[in-house]
Amino acid sequence: MTEADLQAMLAARAGSCPICSDKPAEHVDHDHETGRVRGILCFACNAAPGQMRDRPDALRRAADYLEGIVWKPTLVAPGVYRLPS
Ligand SMILES: [Zn+2]
Repeated sequence: MTEADLQAMLAARAGSCPICSDKPAEHVDHDHETGRVRGILCFACNAAPGQMRDRPDALRRAADYLEGIVWKPTLVAPGVYRLPS
């Protein structure tokens, strides 16, 4: 990646992190297996995918978990709850 590539990526994102959108994109993110540059993220978002072993399926389930979709029971009748399947 050249300096021009880096500046073009920053300009395309208007300087904000493409994941959280509220922090400056300052850290080059790369695929840990291939070394391919994926983009520029903020410090926290650059670390998060690696913490989840770069697994999109686990990251999607983590989002569902945080939103309560995975574990939150649904009240279907008075006193009757249904757990997510
Ligand atoms: Zn971020």
